[in-house]
Formats: sequence, C-alpha cells, structure tokens
Amino acid sequence: MARLVMKFGGTSVADIDRIRNVALHVAREVNAGHEIAVVVSAMSGTTNQLVQWTRDAANVHDAREYDVVVSSGEQVTAGLLAITLQGMGISARSWLGWQIPIKTNEVHGAARILSIEAEALSERWAKGEVAVVAGFQGVAEDNRITTLGRGGSDTSAVALAAALGARCDIYTDVDGVYTTDPRIVPKAQKLDRISYEEMLEMASLGAKVLQTRSVEMAMTNQVALQVRSSFDPPEGPFGDSVHGYGPGTLVCGEEDIVEKQIVSGIAYSKNEAKVTLVRVQDKPGVAARIFGPLSDTNINVDMIVQNVSEDGETTDLTFTVGEDDLPRAMDVIESAHDDIGYQHLVGSTDVVKISVIGVGMRSHAGVASRMFQVLADKGINIQAITTSEIKISILIDSAYTELAVRSLHTAYELDAD
Ligand code: ASP
Ligand code: MG
Repeated sequence: MARLVMKFGGTSVADIDRIRNVALHVAREVNAGHEIAVVVSAMSGTTNQLVQWTRDAANVHDAREYDVVVSSGEQVTAGLLAITLQGMGISARSWLGWQIPIKTNEVHGAARILSIEAEALSERWAKGEVAVVAGFQGVAEDNRITTLGRGGSDTSAVALAAALGARCDIYTDVDGVYTTDPRIVPKAQKLDRISYEEMLEMASLGAKVLQTRSVEMAMTNQVALQVRSSFDPPEGPFGDSVHGYGPGTLVCGEEDIVEKQIVSGIAYSKNEAKVTLVRVQDKPGVAARIFGPLSDTNINVDMIVQNVSEDGETTDLTFTVGEDDLPRAMDVIESAHDDIGYQHLVGSTDVVKISVIGVGMRSHAGVASRMFQVLADKGINIQAITTSEIKISILIDSAYTELAVRSLHTAYELDAD
C-alpha cells in the first residue's frame, strides 16, 4: 500500500467523458490498495474565461474577488469527479482549499502555500475514502480564498504529496517530458528520467508541462514526481504503482539517474525581448543606474551583454526581459535617460532564447563550444549568451528557431533513431 497524489490537468477533465476516464485511472489505483488524493484543475478553457470575466467586469479589480471568481473552476471539477467516483461505487469526497485547509499567504492571484493540515484527509483515508481536492486554491489567514498563480494545481498536488508523504503522479495531455518540443523536432524523445534541476530549467524556459514552482517544491521536499498521460489506457499493463513507475517521465534526484546524459534537453522561449542602449557612458555606476530602476519596477532582467568600449568613453549595453515587460522596460530606461546618459534606445521582440540543459555539463567540457560551432555552421548570429552550471542559453533571431533547435538536437545526439 502506498500513498499517492494523482493530479489531472484541464484537458484531462475537459468534459464528463474525460472525467469518467480520470475516474478509471483512480479506480485502478484504488484497486491496487493505495491511499489516494486526487487534485484536479478546472476544465480546459474555464480559467481563461473566468479571468476574462473579471476583466470585463472592471479592468482594475479587487484581487480578493478575482480569486473568488477564478478559483471556482476547480470547485466544479472536484465535485464532478467525486460524483463520478461515487457512481462507480468508490467512496470519495471533494475538498476545497479552505476545507483541508491549505493555508497560504495573502498575495491574491499568486499566493504561496504556508502549510497544509493533512489530518482530516488522513482520517478519511483510514476509512478508505478517496479525497478529491480542488487544485490552484488555498485560504489566507483572514479566511479569504486565494489562488496560486496560473498553472498552480501542479503546486497544490506537490504540496499535498509533501504534506502526506505521498508520491505524486501528474497526468497531463502529453506522455512525459521530451528532449525538446516534438512539434518542431519530430525526432524528440521522451525522457525516462530527468533531474529536478534540469526540469526546473526546462519549466522556467517555457516547457509548460509543470508549473516551475511545483518543481522547486518537489526538489526541496524530495517528492518523487511522475509526468504521464491521462490518455494512456487506464487499464493498461503498466501504470499501476505496484509495478513501479509507469511509462511517463520520472522527475527525481540526480543520484537516481543511472544513465546520465551530458545534455538532457533543448528548450526555447520566444517570449523574450531585447533592449539595447546605444553609446552608453562607460564609467562606474552606470549599470546600477540602468538596472536599479528596472528592479524597482519589478522587471526581471535575464541576459546582459556589455561590449568593451572602443573609445574608452561609450559602449553598447544589451539586456533581455520578458516580452510582456518590454513597454515598461523601455519607459523606465527612457525616463532615466538623463541620469544614465546614452545616445539612443532600441527594443525588439524578434528574438528567441535557446537553451541547452544538462547536469552532465558540470563534469564535461566542450558543451558550449559545440553549441557555438553548430550555430556558426548554420550562419546563425548569437546576440547574447548566459550560462549557469547546468545550462547554456543564447539569444538569436527568432526566424532561426526551428533550424537552431533541430541542429542542436542532432548535434548533442538526442535524435530518436
Ligand atoms: N486552472 C488553473 C489555470 O488554468 C490552474 C491549473 O490548471 O493548474 O491556471
Ligand atoms: Mg498545467
């Protein structure tokens, strides 16, 4: 007998038939004798609609009421799944965030979980009841409903698994984590295992399988996380947790990966914008005057490149921000023009960030040089570079996204045969 948290995303609960399919997956694990909490998202499209309605009602609105509205989608699917399970003769009960309770801070719309009191759920487990938990929501100290940020049901599931000492299976519409986006590289392969750190990089770079926060939480709490498809047959030969991990991707500690790759995946993000300050003064304090106001306005700067100045007086400085932040970043730098001192400012969004990710880089040389050689061979110009211990990212013209990702995928021998 094991403790298991099963999380189903929006496409997996998109209508009553799919909810019935989810119930079959749950039934399989119930029959295997496990103690089960199921975390559900809202039906796909629902949360977007709810968000839109809050905007239609008033463009600037009270974040507490936003949470009341957008959390409602998960209430519906939790109730529907409980009804469906009961209809199949499985004892089940729905739980909203405040009923458990899942306590969060008061940052409405992007709340962080502070604690989960799991006693009530454990008592129900002892009676053989499946807990169906509404994802994405919690309750603040003042008893108001909070939500955890878009994609937050993943975090609900991992937090619950950590609190209950359970394993966490994330059921989604893909069958695992791939070496890169299969839509642009048909030879992308599903990874059997990926380390928390690599997954964190993949998730924060826009591989949207898991909310970044949930991976962080799994890593800190050492929750074994399996990504798998809810469209796999519920009765398949694999899958029941008695036989160990199923056909998906296991996100786990590096030490649990036997066959380590040097490069595990290639991620790209088109959601980037580039800002260049042309002929900025080359003297102490200038960088602080540029990046200080940006951080004061909560704009996240990612890559930074400063050229060596030729005349000893001025140089060009380039940095990147999220695409959505570009207008604000331009405003901030323009209003600080006199303080910073530069000739002119250029902003553009036709850039893509491509990253090569792998824990093996720590102990292998030559990963970066291979990347640069591949791009050189294809005549692709690199506009900016950043690195971390397990990642190299470059910024290039977005027109070359497919070409670059495909060529790198081949060069690091990630192509399926
Ligand atoms: N329903 C929420 C969203 O769409 C939470 C989730 O699905 O994880 O963002
Ligand atoms: Mg999601």
